[in-house]
Amino acid sequence: MSNGDAPAHADRPPATTTDSGIPAPSDEYSLTVGPSGPIALHDHYVVQKMQHFNRERVPERVVHAKGSGAHGFFEVTEDVSQFTKAGFLAIGKRTPVFARFSTVAGEQGFPDTVRDPRGFALKFYTDDGNFDLVGNNTPVFFVRDPSKFQDFIHSQKRLADTGMRSNQMQWDFWTLSPESAHQVTILMSDRGTPRTYRHMNGYSSHTYSWVNTDGERFWVKYHFKTVQGAENFTDEQAGAMAGEDPDFHRRDLRQAIADGGSPEWRLEVQIMPFADAADYRFNPFDLTKVWPHGDYPPITVGRLVLDRNPANFFAEVEQAGFSPANLVPGTGLSPDKMLMGRIFSYHDTHLHRIGPNYEQLPINAPRVPVHSYNKDAQMTYHHSGAQPVYAPNSAGGPQADAERAPDLGWPVESGELGRYAYDKHAEDDDFGQAGTLVREVMSDLDREHLVANIVAHASDEVADDMQQRVIAYWAKVDPQIAAEVAVGLGKDNGASPDGPASAEAAALVSARANRA
Ligand code: NDP
Repeated sequence: MSNGDAPAHADRPPATTTDSGIPAPSDEYSLTVGPSGPIALHDHYVVQKMQHFNRERVPERVVHAKGSGAHGFFEVTEDVSQFTKAGFLAIGKRTPVFARFSTVAGEQGFPDTVRDPRGFALKFYTDDGNFDLVGNNTPVFFVRDPSKFQDFIHSQKRLADTGMRSNQMQWDFWTLSPESAHQVTILMSDRGTPRTYRHMNGYSSHTYSWVNTDGERFWVKYHFKTVQGAENFTDEQAGAMAGEDPDFHRRDLRQAIADGGSPEWRLEVQIMPFADAADYRFNPFDLTKVWPHGDYPPITVGRLVLDRNPANFFAEVEQAGFSPANLVPGTGLSPDKMLMGRIFSYHDTHLHRIGPNYEQLPINAPRVPVHSYNKDAQMTYHHSGAQPVYAPNSAGGPQADAERAPDLGWPVESGELGRYAYDKHAEDDDFGQAGTLVREVMSDLDREHLVANIVAHASDEVADDMQQRVIAYWAKVDPQIAAEVAVGLGKDNGASPDGPASAEAAALVSARANRA
C-alpha cells in the first residue's frame, strides 16, 4: 500500500511523506556512507526538506508586520438603505468577515504592547465580491499626502547605521510635519497602548462614499466601537507586559475566542450629504481631521462579531491581503489623497509579498465566482479552461457592466496639473483638533498620563535641541501641556511670552505649520 492510511496499518499514525506524497524513509537520519560517512546528495528527502525550510518565509509586511486575526460576521441591525444600496449593508444581512489586528512599526517578533497605532483590517466576503476596510484604532493619521508615507514609516522603523529604533528620529519627523499633531496626541495618550485588541475601537479614518438606489451620494466615515469598552494600559503596564508576554494581544484574542467570548464591535457611521463637503468648516477629506460628532452624529449600522480562531496562522493571518481598493456597488472612494495612494499601494505590496495570484488563496478569495481576463502567472490555481482570453470577444465571455460596477465619482474643478496642498477650509489648521481632544475630551488623569508619556518618550536618547522642538510642538497643541512637558524634560525656561520652548525651536515648528 502507498501510505500509512492503509487498513493494514490503521493503528499507526500516517507515514511521513515527501511533498510528492511518497513515503519518507526516516525522520531522523540522513543517508550516509556508513555511520560516519559523507551525506549522499541524492538523499532528495533531506535535501528538499532543507530547501523548503530555507524558503518558508514570505517577506513580512513593511508596515503592520505583526498581526493576529479572527473570523466572524457582520450583521446589519439598522436600516441605512436611504444612504446606500450596498447589498451587504441591507438590514438583517449577515456577511462573513475576517479581521486582522496589528502593530504598525514593529517586526514579526516585536512585543504587542509597545506604543504604536494598531491596524484594524476587515475583509467582508459579500455577495458582490470582497469589501475591505483597512483601518486603524485611531480616527486620523500622521500625514495627509501619500508622498510622505514612506518617509514617515522610515522614521518609525530603524536607523540605517545601527539598526536601532530612534525616538530622536521620530520627533524629528513629527516636529517637522505639524500635520502629525492630532495623531501624535492620540498616540501619546494611553490609547497608544491599548489593553487588548478587543478593547480598542477601529476607524476607517478615511472618508469614503455611499450611493443609494436613487443615485444620491453621501460621504461616510466608519467607526467600529468596541462593545467591550475602550481600555488601555498605562505606559508602565505596557512596558512591563512587553517583557512578560511579547505575544500578549495575540494570546488574549485567541484565548477570548477559544473561551467563547466572541468580542464584538458596533459599527457607527457618520454621514455627510455630498454637497456639504465644499464649504464644511474642515476639509472633510483631510486624514488628519475628524468630523466632530456634534456636526455629523454617529448612526448605528450593525455589529461585528469575531467567533472563530484561524486554523492555520500562516494561511489565514500571514497570507491575508487586504486592499482599500476592494469596494462593492453602493460604496466608493473620496478625494482623500492618502486613500488614493493606498488604493495603489496595498495591492502592489501583496503582489510582491505573496504573489500575483494572492487573491486565489482561500483567505483572500471572494465567495462569488471570479470572471476576469487576468490569467496565468506564478502559482495560478484556478484556470479558466476553454474561455476567451481577451475582451471584447464574440465567444460569450464576460462583459464589464457599468451599471453593476462600484465606480462612484465626484465633481472636480478643472485645474492645472501640479503639486498642491488641499484647499483650505475655514477652520483647517494642524493643531486645533488635537487641542480640542486635550482640553475638551481628556480627563485630568488622561492629560497627566499624556504629559508623562511624552516626557518618557522624549527623554529616551533625544537630544537637547530636539527636546526644545518637542516643547514647541506641544505649545501649538496646548500651552499647558507644553509647560508641563518642559518641566518634565527639565527645561522650564517658561518665562518666554511665546511659550516654554527656545525661540529657535518655536520658529522652526511655526514655519513648518500650515504650509501651503
Ligand atoms: P465627542 O466628545 O463627541 O467625542 C470624543 C471622542 O473622543 C469619542 O469618540 C471618544 O471615543 C474619543 N476619545 C476619548 N479619549 C480619546 C483619546 N485619548 N484619544 C482619541 N480619542 C479619544 O467629540 P467630537 O466629535 O466633538 O471631537 C472632539 C475630539 O475628539 C476630536 O478633535 C478628536 O480628537 C476626538 N475624536 C473624535 C472622533 C470623531 O470621529 N468625531 C473620534 C475619536 C476621537 P470613545 O467614545 O470610544 O471613548
